[in-house]
Amino acid sequence: MEQLGVFETATEACVAATVAQKELVLKYTLEDRDRFIGNIRKNIIGNMEMLAEMEFDETGYGRLEDKLAKNTGAVMLSQGTEAIPQNMYASDKGLTVEYYAPFGVVGAVTPVTNPVATVVGNGIANVAAGNAIVFNAHPSAKKTSARAVHLINKAVIEVGGPGNLFTMPAEPTLDSLNEIMAYPSVKLLIGTGGPGMVKTLMCSGKKVIAAGAGNPPSIIDETVDLAKAAAGIYESASFDNNLLCIAEKELFVVDTIFDEFMKRLESVGAYRVNTEEGKRLTDICVVKASGGSYAANKKYVGKCANIILKAAGIKINNDPRMVIFEAQNDDKLVHTEQMMPIIPVVRCKNFEEAVERAVAAEHDCKHSASIWSNDINRVTAFGKVINTTIFVQNGGTMAAFGIGGTGTNAPTIATPTGEGVTGPQSFVRRRRFCMAGGGNYLL
Ligand code: NAD
Repeated sequence: MEQLGVFETATEACVAATVAQKELVLKYTLEDRDRFIGNIRKNIIGNMEMLAEMEFDETGYGRLEDKLAKNTGAVMLSQGTEAIPQNMYASDKGLTVEYYAPFGVVGAVTPVTNPVATVVGNGIANVAAGNAIVFNAHPSAKKTSARAVHLINKAVIEVGGPGNLFTMPAEPTLDSLNEIMAYPSVKLLIGTGGPGMVKTLMCSGKKVIAAGAGNPPSIIDETVDLAKAAAGIYESASFDNNLLCIAEKELFVVDTIFDEFMKRLESVGAYRVNTEEGKRLTDICVVKASGGSYAANKKYVGKCANIILKAAGIKINNDPRMVIFEAQNDDKLVHTEQMMPIIPVVRCKNFEEAVERAVAAEHDCKHSASIWSNDINRVTAFGKVINTTIFVQNGGTMAAFGIGGTGTNAPTIATPTGEGVTGPQSFVRRRRFCMAGGGNYLL
């Protein structure tokens, strides 16, 4: 079957995107871009079950029902052209307008943990910005990514837009990424993934918007409603088997409520294992990485808890969404971005110790963190020192993306480069037009 936008080589994908981007800017208006985006949303939602199933089958990660919710949020809550700002300065000396222009062709690297949402979300944001986009998809999600690229191209063509605004090489590799990075009309690189990818993009000599790894901690203190905190964390940390980069990965709980909080987590459905079993789980979930550090064992990333429990020799008859155990602060799992529904919980003698430990576990990724507390002074104090891009009080971290809270949704949270939750406003160039000496009309 023909796949719109999918090319044999990366260079062909760049050539086609370059032609399409010129056409977009010269022949179409902002209203046209809105129309394209509207039809992309409609067509992707219409194909959502098929895309979620493909994502689940090809990657083997996560939970199908959660992928439907995740991808729907990414499509429906993403921003369009309305997010592009306009500034104006006027006085009796003249009129100056700042407005925002496309970068041109963008190269985008996408993760295996979130392929559909990243292709569609980056696609919508870039067409709003006036860019065309060449994806170098994760090789383990290339078929699903190609299907998403096909569908968003089809949606644009259906309502009279240019073909090939979204392209990709059929066989993405490190070589194809090098070709995309070196291609002259590619002016901006967007990377969503781990630290190796961010480093590679940074070496390209081109502008990079990088959305890197995290290890989000959550603090729970004695001032909060423990039943609500347990339910909120259970829902968020177990979502799609903890694949989301924003999902809570380790919990720091104040000693006076530790035992009560663990019971509350169990009562909402978490399966508690003892310290020895927790150690066995850690031994299989974490592997040695280069430079003496640790990394998640890819064999168990995104897998259901019962599969991981079985692999660790722990017998279980049901399928809990999440496993918890009391961990020591220096346990490997506390300090590794596991992306598995196995959550270590650390007992802390007081709030101050919880803050110190949470900051250390976040490893200055500047990604995400949360706190369950009704003491606003504590919330402020933690927020100041953790200094993450996403910081949530009394909710799952997904709340910052409009799921259980208020906000827009985006699959690319630019952490090391500082753009934060990205949108069309992140992928444009600021320009200034000045009408000098002619502003008397205004005063
Ligand atoms: P990954 O780093 O293994 O792969 C991400 C992408 O980068 C893939 O397309 C891969 O082919 C490519 N890649 C990998 N190593 C590379 C290298 N050395 N040079 C160039 N390209 C390389 O990550 P993943 O397993 O696909 O995704 C999970 C990671 O992504 C987690 O660390 C997660 O936190 C992060 N992530 C971050 C965000 C965010 O918005 N900040 C969103 C989703 C995922």
